[in-house]
Amino acid sequence: MSEAKRLVVVGGVAGGMSCAARARRLDENAHIIVLERGQHVSFANCGLPYYVGGEIADSDDLLVQTPTKLRESLNLDVRPSHEVIGLDLAARQVSVRITAADGGARVEQIGYDALVLSPGALAFRPPIQGLEQSTRVHTLRSVPDAIRLRELAEAGAQRAVVLGAGFIGVEAAEVLAQRGISTTLVEFAAHVLPPLDEEVAWPVTQQLRRLGIDVRTSVTADQILAGAQSDTVVLSDGTRLEADLIVLSVGVRPDTAVFEQAGVACERGAIVVDEHGRTSAEAVWAVGDATLSTDPVTGVRRPVALAGPANRAGRLVADHVMRPETARPIAAPLGTAIVRVGELAAAMTGANRASLEQAGVAFHTLHLHPNQHAGYFPGATPVHLVVHVRAGDGLLLGAQAVGEQGVDKRIDVLATALRAGMHVADLIDLDLAYAPPYGQAKDPINLVGMVGSNVLDGTLALWQARELDHVLHHCLILDVRTDQELTAGTVPGALHIPHTQLRSRLDEVAQATEGRPVRVLCASGVRSALAHRMLVQAGFDSASLSGGMHTLRAVVGDRAGELLTAPQAPA
Ligand code: FAD
Repeated sequence: MSEAKRLVVVGGVAGGMSCAARARRLDENAHIIVLERGQHVSFANCGLPYYVGGEIADSDDLLVQTPTKLRESLNLDVRPSHEVIGLDLAARQVSVRITAADGGARVEQIGYDALVLSPGALAFRPPIQGLEQSTRVHTLRSVPDAIRLRELAEAGAQRAVVLGAGFIGVEAAEVLAQRGISTTLVEFAAHVLPPLDEEVAWPVTQQLRRLGIDVRTSVTADQILAGAQSDTVVLSDGTRLEADLIVLSVGVRPDTAVFEQAGVACERGAIVVDEHGRTSAEAVWAVGDATLSTDPVTGVRRPVALAGPANRAGRLVADHVMRPETARPIAAPLGTAIVRVGELAAAMTGANRASLEQAGVAFHTLHLHPNQHAGYFPGATPVHLVVHVRAGDGLLLGAQAVGEQGVDKRIDVLATALRAGMHVADLIDLDLAYAPPYGQAKDPINLVGMVGSNVLDGTLALWQARELDHVLHHCLILDVRTDQELTAGTVPGALHIPHTQLRSRLDEVAQATEGRPVRVLCASGVRSALAHRMLVQAGFDSASLSGGMHTLRAVVGDRAGELLTAPQAPA
């Protein structure tokens, strides 16, 4: 390191520790100091819910590194219980409050040649009446938080309310329910895991219910009333929930007040950085949850609170601090994420429907439900895929998946394809590993490419489950499933002709249309696509339901009873 003799890193977990370790690997002589407010560094935030649930038995397993080990292996000067409370940009020094084991504190100034900020985020605390007064409200952000929650669970907590059904809230609800605690999950948005599209979130809701969790959406907590034995959470719909413990997980906000006050430019509390992590201040870089990044698909500027981007950015910033001439720029995160919920995994990468609509991007949405491996091999189970592609050229914009197996593999391939700027038709050409226990000769990803290219070249026209109300009023719905399948219910007023009989019964379709377009459906979208091809070649205005009844049921969710006709007996 030529000019940066002393590197000070604020925050000793994902981004900060990744930066410090890389910096040492690049420069044996630098003095690298890591300042961490908490008692632990380099702990596994992402493992905290699994400790609460007991799957990770020992809290020591959450401590990936200790200051001693970091001193020994990397010669890092790691200082827990050191909180940065001030920053003097002109003097290039930070003020640090050091808390001793006996609770006493003193303040020290530490100078830097290069300063890297990785302070992460704080749990957002909404203005719920009684929230700050309650002693039963907990967050899940640190090792002590996780230990406390597990203690409460083991001490016999009976009822829990989890506020917020984002990734951490869902994980928290599951582990509490696993411990036999009667758990209610409360979400302001219309569905759980709001970053996911509704059709991917619905199977997760069902899975949470199967785990015994009471899922309440489109509702907020208005008030928390403290009681002697338990608290009462009052919801906006008037429901009153008794709780021995309340987990607050309604989102995070960048933990940047000290740095913003010192003059480091921030936008809505997140530190503004360039492609090398440089802030507005000389010799100051920032990474992780505290920083702003630009969504590579929609161009929207927002913080991304995920471990992968923080770790990678920490490493790249160390490169830029130590050898700027060869440092790679930090690629803006796609927001690739995955969560386990009971038997399911749900994952996403890139933009979701809401963000594309908000950004005014014209796009097609593809739904597929292929098996994760060959259907004839034991254990085949569907991967439910949703893929958004740009209208016109098919540029991949975003993808989501939910299923029991094979979800991580498909989302990671799609995340790679998005990062590479691939178009949907390029997925046809991906040469993916196949043997019956692992995949399909036409892997689900190849199938996305095939369906997508059919849509783009006009071979296949799709209608979307979200258009159901319009379609019900203006189109003839043609259900091409078997008689047997209809016993599970269908769309009211649908004409039923199994796809194997359609060629010889096209005149019945012509009679029933009364000038209306035909909108075809089947279970998953495969047979309706076949029927669509027959219909368009016979001159009908036709479209096939994207993802079929699987997707439609997921989109209508709890409204299935009111929107779909009751199960019918086979004719
Ligand atoms: P952090 O890792 O949070 O580190 C910031 C550190 O800075 C903190 O320890 C804090 O005490 C310290 N600090 C803050 N201000 C100061 C100051 N002024 N002085 C000194 N120290 C300070 N992401 C995933 O991708 N996958 C997951 O499965 C996943 N699961 C998660 C589960 C939980 C329960 C939590 C809480 C997070 C999870 N995350 C997950 C998110 C992931 O942990 C974060 O995105 C990542 O840790 C961010 O890294 P960071 O370095 O920006 O901040």
